[in-house]
Amino acid sequence: MNGFPLCFAACRIWRASWKFRSIYESLIAYPNLLMRFAIFSDLHANLEATEAVLADARERECTHFVCLGDVVGYNANPHECVEIVRKMDCPVVKGNHDEQASLAESSRGFNALAEAAINWTREHLTEEDKEWLRQMRMSRQVRDFTIVHATLDSPDQWAYVFNNLDAAASFTYQHTTVCFFGHTHVPGAFVRDEGVKRVKVDQLMIEESKKYFINVGSVGQPRDGDWRAAYCIYHIDKNVVEQRRIKYDLATTQKKIIQAGLPRLLAERLELGR
Ligand code: ZN
Repeated sequence: MNGFPLCFAACRIWRASWKFRSIYESLIAYPNLLMRFAIFSDLHANLEATEAVLADARERECTHFVCLGDVVGYNANPHECVEIVRKMDCPVVKGNHDEQASLAESSRGFNALAEAAINWTREHLTEEDKEWLRQMRMSRQVRDFTIVHATLDSPDQWAYVFNNLDAAASFTYQHTTVCFFGHTHVPGAFVRDEGVKRVKVDQLMIEESKKYFINVGSVGQPRDGDWRAAYCIYHIDKNVVEQRRIKYDLATTQKKIIQAGLPRLLAERLELGR
């Protein structure tokens, strides 16, 4: 047999297989390019802020949603917020207010303001809502990042991560490059490289050689002096975490709190971002 056609055929097969491989590889990579996570926390029964954040996330073409807990407590629409997140069927972890609202009575000391709100919240949730809050996990892995409400070193103790030392304790238990958390209602990130330092999120570039413990802020009751709802977008394709602040119908939320008979201070603190 002539060697030339054989060589020609082999060459064509090789080229076809190479083409197939590149199509296959891009198909494998494609889902990542399509993934854009909206990561939100501490909704605290603030329906107007929740709806505004979700509308912004959809406008920004987020494909996946993740909730870091405290769906209820403080504000006047606990049932509605539970329904929204439950229907989204997205990864969720438990917050301290979710825990307390799902119990028959409080098992640990909240301050007077939070306690008044949690008692009111219990009366305004259905049994089904409470069951959904009860079954939430304390922490979990989503794709290649971790989520937790408070800390990784003792997620069920509800400690607060405000400084580098607090963050260092969580980093000890962090096995993924990125972990998102909430609970303090103060957005910001801790980065572990040589040591631990605090950085602003804004547009945070993720480097594989470091570790990141990122607070996405609070949707329903921000406490960093900015009243606008906070959440983060994780752009998987660009390896960037972006902080978002969203205006919402604050007056309606405040009116509902007062009409519900919840402490007036809960309405007043919202506009101060405290
Ligand atoms: Zn909270």
